[in-house]
Amino acid sequence: MNKKFVISLIGAPASGKGYIAACLARELEEKYHFSKEDIADISIGELIRREKKAQTPLGLELAANMKEGGLAPDAIVNKMLTETLHRTKARVLILDGYPRTVGQVRTFDKLMQGFPSAVIFRDTPTSLILERVKNRRICACCGRAQEVSNKICVYCGGSLVKRKDDEVLPERLAEYEQMTKPAVLELKKEGNHFFFYDGKTEGDEIAQSFLAANEQYLR
Ligand SMILES: [Zn+2]
Repeated sequence: MNKKFVISLIGAPASGKGYIAACLARELEEKYHFSKEDIADISIGELIRREKKAQTPLGLELAANMKEGGLAPDAIVNKMLTETLHRTKARVLILDGYPRTVGQVRTFDKLMQGFPSAVIFRDTPTSLILERVKNRRICACCGRAQEVSNKICVYCGGSLVKRKDDEVLPERLAEYEQMTKPAVLELKKEGNHFFFYDGKTEGDEIAQSFLAANEQYLR
């Protein structure tokens, strides 16, 4: 079959979406014999950075419409994603953190027309996320991740700092609770192919049960 299967991966910031994506990719390779080229892990933030850097027409539009540190306008994100969905040669697309606004949720069905798709939603409590990142630091010199108890970088002796993302995490979590979560629950109400997991479910477990339930799209 040559239909692309789109997996929409949704959860709070710093709740481990990247890890779930990695588990999905590994399971697809090991159990379903996909090659690395068959799987596209698509982060919207990454797409935006790439378009802007390459100064494509969309990239220029983004640069003109995005405030420093602000969200990209839904219409442009949707346009960019549509192009990517059609252009990519991969058979499975993992969308990391999309949709994330009410506007994106409203146009989600239209965007996914012609693509079988399913949503993975892991609902991790804010308190658990804050606890997990509390002791997370990176080296200011070499950028490697480490525990705060190391005091200095074990690789290069550099000083340990909080990740930029982690510093603004409380704000990002609040934005997620207010904006993204209600929007995503709308998706569920509209009867999308929706898979719900609680914050304690491990990435491996999610990947295995989700892919087993969607085997018809993986042949
Ligand atoms: Zn270092």
